[in-house]
Amino acid sequence: MTIEFAEMPDAEGYFGEYGGQVIPPELKAVMDDINVAYDEVRKTQAFQDELAELYTHYVGRPSPIFYARRLSEKIGGARIFLKREDLNHTGAHKINHCLGEALLAKHMGKKKVLAETGAGQHGVALATACALVGIPCEIHMGEVDIKKEHPNVTKMKILGCDLIPVSRGTKTLKDAVDSAFDEYLRDPVNFLYAIGSVVGPHPFPRMVRDFQSIVGKEARAQFWEREQQLPTVVTACVGGGSNAIGIFTEFLPDEEVRLIGVEPAGLGLDTPDHAATLTLGVKGAIHGFKCYNLQDEKGNPLAVYSIASGLDYPGVGPQHSYLKDHGRVTYETVDDKECLDAFITLSRTEGIIPALESAHAVAYAMRLGKGMSAAETILINLSGRGDKDADFVAEKLGL
Ligand SMILES: *Cc1c(COP(=O)(O)O)cnc(C)c1O
Repeated sequence: MTIEFAEMPDAEGYFGEYGGQVIPPELKAVMDDINVAYDEVRKTQAFQDELAELYTHYVGRPSPIFYARRLSEKIGGARIFLKREDLNHTGAHKINHCLGEALLAKHMGKKKVLAETGAGQHGVALATACALVGIPCEIHMGEVDIKKEHPNVTKMKILGCDLIPVSRGTKTLKDAVDSAFDEYLRDPVNFLYAIGSVVGPHPFPRMVRDFQSIVGKEARAQFWEREQQLPTVVTACVGGGSNAIGIFTEFLPDEEVRLIGVEPAGLGLDTPDHAATLTLGVKGAIHGFKCYNLQDEKGNPLAVYSIASGLDYPGVGPQHSYLKDHGRVTYETVDDKECLDAFITLSRTEGIIPALESAHAVAYAMRLGKGMSAAETILINLSGRGDKDADFVAEKLGL
């Protein structure tokens, strides 16, 4: 089993039947260049040293593992541990792969890095990495989202990125993707499109996974040192799937460790308002790769929803699609209500305000942990902090 997973994806970027490059031939040539450059550069000591240095002294890695004693006691079952990605510089796991992508762009001599952003989390992480590495950054964002996400918009401006307001269509994430992509196609040889999760055409699902796998490498060693055993369960929320694959990868060969991804059920799986792609999706292509996705009868992506804007994507990483079919990872869902309850419970038992995205994983761990024994353990990837969500939750709950 170890070898089977380590060798993925294959040379064409496939994880079983998922992934690949569903893109025009001109773009395929550009993606293949990125793949070759990535393979060259990642084998050099200079690149590995530069990235390791930044992880340690800029991001603040290794992030600690924290035993959530009061939460565990309140649940009265398994002991629950948190991998504290919320403590990273910029407040989430996204900085891990944004730094990798920005460094790669610099090594490839790219003139500009660009991307879309919805709630602004990917935009801020990327603008941060580009400021540090010293490469121009352009972020496309829908006008509706610009109005909603004020703090992140301000941060991106301060960080010096070129923020492009998108006024076409619904003026939201979907239109920002189209706008950023149009700009990218003007000069794909000199620009790098920095994808924000383990999605998109090959080599992005592989590259972003590799950059995020530091999370699981640290976590497995830290957990072993602390407990002299491996966790019973490792769990993480799944939007595109980068923080989940980041913590899962190192545990894939440990067959005794149960790996569980948590998708947003939003207002309910029986309503249109969810983003449970692996749970209810069908096989298809989206944004240049094959995966499970939520689509209408014509094959167009559905308008998905989650209380956590970082989770509302109608596709999902190809490796997660493969791992679901394989059975090595199982995928569960948590709705908005259970997510909000976990958000408040973690805040009030541990003094840790989680991102609404991460609160999905906390909620699932609370549900699962109740039925487990104190000899068993659950390790949660706490992907980010909840500063960005505090006002929204306070208003929603009338605090
Ligand atoms: C963006 C984001 C996510 C979702 O992205 P993945 O690629 O699924 O990890 C999860 N948590 C936080 C805090 C985020 O900002």
